[in-house]
Formats: sequence, structure tokens, C-alpha cells
Amino acid sequence: MISAGMLGVDVAIIGSGGAGLAAAIEARKARAQVVLIEQAETLGGASIISTGGCFVVGSPLQESHGIHDTPDDAFEDWVKWGQGAADEEWARYYIEHSLHDFYFWTEGIGVKWVDLVPFEGNRAPRWHLPKDGGLGLTTSLIETAKKLGVREIITSTAVNKIVIQDGRVCGLKAVNVKSGEMTEIQSKTVVVATGGFSGNLDMILEVRPDLKRFKIMEGGGVGATGAGHRLVREIGGYLTHMDRIWFYVYATPDYRDPKGRRGLAVRGIPGYIWINQQGRRFHDESVSGGATGTPVFMAQDPPCVGAVIDAPMTANMFVADPYYQIGDKFLHDKVQELLENSPYIRKANSLADLGRQMGVDLPTFLSTVERYNQACERGLEREPDFGKPLKESKKFDTPPFYAIQFFPLARKSLGGIKTDVRCRVLNKHFQIIAGLYAAGEVAGMAGGHINGAAGLEGTMLGPSIFSGRVAGAWAAQEAGFGTGFTGKPNVRNKV
Ligand SMILES: Cc1cc2nc3c(=O)[nH]c(=O)nc-3n(C[C@H](O)[C@H](O)[C@H](O)COP(=O)(O)OP(=O)(O)OC[C@H]3O[C@@H](n4cnc5c(N)ncnc54)[C@H](O)[C@@H]3O)c2cc1C
Repeated sequence: MISAGMLGVDVAIIGSGGAGLAAAIEARKARAQVVLIEQAETLGGASIISTGGCFVVGSPLQESHGIHDTPDDAFEDWVKWGQGAADEEWARYYIEHSLHDFYFWTEGIGVKWVDLVPFEGNRAPRWHLPKDGGLGLTTSLIETAKKLGVREIITSTAVNKIVIQDGRVCGLKAVNVKSGEMTEIQSKTVVVATGGFSGNLDMILEVRPDLKRFKIMEGGGVGATGAGHRLVREIGGYLTHMDRIWFYVYATPDYRDPKGRRGLAVRGIPGYIWINQQGRRFHDESVSGGATGTPVFMAQDPPCVGAVIDAPMTANMFVADPYYQIGDKFLHDKVQELLENSPYIRKANSLADLGRQMGVDLPTFLSTVERYNQACERGLEREPDFGKPLKESKKFDTPPFYAIQFFPLARKSLGGIKTDVRCRVLNKHFQIIAGLYAAGEVAGMAGGHINGAAGLEGTMLGPSIFSGRVAGAWAAQEAGFGTGFTGKPNVRNKV
């Protein structure tokens, strides 16, 4: 290994996703000297490839749709959805600050909020989409951090040690992943913002050995390897709720991945039906979220499903993955490429041939499709077996027919490093490790487990960026700069 030398700063930030960038912005605003270290060649982490939807309460966009939403209502929905396991202090903190300190703050750095989408578990639509999705939002953060003069942004460099002396964090060691050069950074405080671990199948199975009997796919950012969790654990940081992993089941293996571990979330085909190995439907496919579709899917024997579609249904199909989109524009030719080339997708000119290729019980499969077709033909509002609304469905009648093999995909880590509301990392006795902060998905989005057992859609990216702001401001304050994070809560009461 070659040693590239020593750098001295006030605040060192590990990871350049939404949390790390927001931390860098706050620390720079407090006039601290900041270094940002990223193991990938480019900045942005999972944040920049994400859909970008964020949970916000009481926004002008909601008001423009005639929606009157309050933090109290949102808190109730949040805690209920998390099955009582959410960190309620952090949930309340984010919800009340989501308007001024997230929505308006991001607008202040150039983000435009353009759409509002309803999702299960919410009494009102709260999922706000920025222009150009996660790419647009994260690009604004990157540009702002650069403009504010983050002293060094070091890419292709992985931190492999957090240095602690006399009980106080005082820097880190890192290695250039291309040249092997070592870098040592002395800093008064360190912010860990390394993302989750849903890009590391081994770690997923370590915390969830019960899943070893399933085919589980990696589905977080490629940098979401759990490196930050290990660094913090090594110096006594406490990890909590690590077995809470958010799975999507509308996902198929990425046949282009040389390691054969990654999966692709497939969307935009509401008329599809899920067929299990016995040739049967088993669920209302419109209720497909991590807390609703996933448990039913995983209860199938085996937990592998064929999502059946016909030719016209492919028109709006899209894949939430950088190869299949540019910003928020989805590439239809790439979807066609997937349909034609994936060994996990069967294609046939008749339903009977499709059923044979799927290896399911053929008479059961054909009668299942026939029953669904009849419900569509009769113009029913909902099909009779599981109550799926048929508004967006049609008969399966136009070849070619496809069956996309679905398996569970790990998307988000809902647990992680335990912190207090200043994002200070705690040890197993719930005491502060001096100088050490954690924010974003490495901290279960904020605090260790802001969501609990399940997360409402949009409660990952928003809280990651918000907790990044909180961590950056307090890390700078501990280093002698600024007054820490205050913000402005939305105190609108329940009506
Ligand atoms: C495809 C996809 C779509 C999503 N869509 C949504 C959505 O619409 N709404 C939502 O709320 N959430 C969504 N999420 C989840 C959300 O994007 C993440 O929870 C959030 O971006 C996490 O931000 P972060 O800054 O904590 O981590 P990240 O953005 O993952 O950034 C962490 C960075 O740390 C770097 N790093 C890791 N280890 C080291 C190390 N040792 N040294 C140096 N650098 C290191 C990584 O390379 C990475 O760049 C989505 C996730 C994915 C994968």
C-alpha cells in the first residue's frame, strides 16, 4: 500500500448520498472545514438512482389538491404502519420538520416538487415527487455542496477504519480502491452516512437466517454493503432493529449482473396476475407493498411467482433501475430487451404453452386465467376471489404472453446505528461516543429505526436527507462551528 498522506479537517463525512451531502451542506454553512469521502467513482449513492419520492406533511402541493394534512394525522399513520416499532421521537421530529426543513429547504437549493401520489397506509397522499426524481434531488444537493466549498471531495476511496483515541473519535483511515493508496484524515468529528446493507446478500442472511431458504435478491444501491455498520460496531456503536429489512416482491433477477445477485423492481403493469407454483392466484395484486404483498408472497410454497401479462400490458411497464431509465424517463426499448433476453421471463404464443413453460399445474392455471378473464368481460368492479379492482385490468387475450419470475428483493434497511436526536452515535449503554455521528439509511434513515417494522413509501429518502442536515449541523457545532440544528417545526394541529 502507498501512503498518500494526512489531511486535517473539522468534519469528515463518509458517503456521498443524500445524507452525506446534506451533512456536508450544513457543516459548511456553519463554516467548518469539511471533507467528503466516497468509495464509488461518482457521487450520489442510492439516493441518485432512487425514484426520489419523499414523505412530506402539509405541503403547498397537498394544499393545491385540496388536501388538509397535519403532523398529528401523519404520526398516527406512521406509527400504526410501523406496527408500534418506530422510533416515535424521531418520527415526530421528521414529520413536524418535513415542511420547512425538508420541502422548503430543498426548494431553496433548486428542487421542484412536481407530483403527489397516494400510497397504502396513508389517509392522505404524502409521497411527493421531485422533478427528475432522485437524480434531480441529489444533483441539487451535489451542486450546493460544491458551491459551498466542501474542502475536498474524495472519490474512489473507501473508509476502512474510524480512529478513536481516549474515547473520542479523531479521524479515519481510507484506501483508494483503484490505486491502493492510503489516506489518513484527522478530524474533530466524523459523520457516517454510508447507506444501508440491502446490496449485501451475505449481511442480509446474517441478520435474517430464516431467509436462507428463499431466493433473495440484492436491491439497494451497489454501495449499500453495510461497511459503515461494521466500522461503527468495531468501535462500540450499537446497532438496532437490523432484522427489519424492506422487501419488494414485484422483482425479477437482473440477468445482466455477473454475480447473479441483484434484482430489478418491475412496475407499471397493474393488470398482471401473480401465479404460484400450484397454478393459482393467491392475492389482490394491487396491494403489493412491503407490508401487504410481501408477507403473502413469502408464504407461498415455493416463494416464487410468475407475473403473467400479455402484449398490450407491456406498453407502460418500467423497471426502477439506472440501466432502464434516464432520470425519471423510463426506456421502453430496454424493457423490451429485458422481456426478450431474460432467462427469468417465459414467452409464449398461447396461455397453454406459457403454463407449460412455467411448470405449473396446467388445468389449474388455465382455469385461473379464464376466471379472471370472465370477471373482466362481465365488467365487474372487482374480481370475486381476492377483491382486486379491475379498473386497470383487461382480458388476457393478445399474444405474446409473458410470465416474469418474481422473487423477494431487499430494497431498504429499516434498522441500523442507534443515535440520539442530534444523530450522535450511542454505545450499547446508550451513552454517546464522542465525536461520532450517523445519518441516513446506515442509521435506519434516522435514529436507528425511524420507521419500525414497516415504512410508508417515501419515508427513506426524506428522513435520510433530513437526518443528514441534523448530523452535519451538530457535528460542526461539536467541532466549534455554528449553533447546531434548530429548524422550524410545522405546528399545525389536528382538526
Ligand atoms: C432503486 C431505488 C429506489 C428508491 N426509491 C425511493 C423512493 O422513491 N423514496 C424513498 O424514500 N426511498 C427510496 N429508496 C431508498 C432511498 O434511496 C435510500 O434510503 C436513501 O437514498 C439513503 O440515502 P443515504 O445517503 O443514507 O445512502 P446512499 O444514498 O446509499 O449513500 C451512501 C453512500 O456511501 C458510500 N459508502 C458506503 N460505504 C462507504 C465507505 N466505507 N467509504 C466511503 N463511502 C462509502 C456509498 O458508495 C454511497 O454512495 C430507493 C432505493 C433504491 C435502491
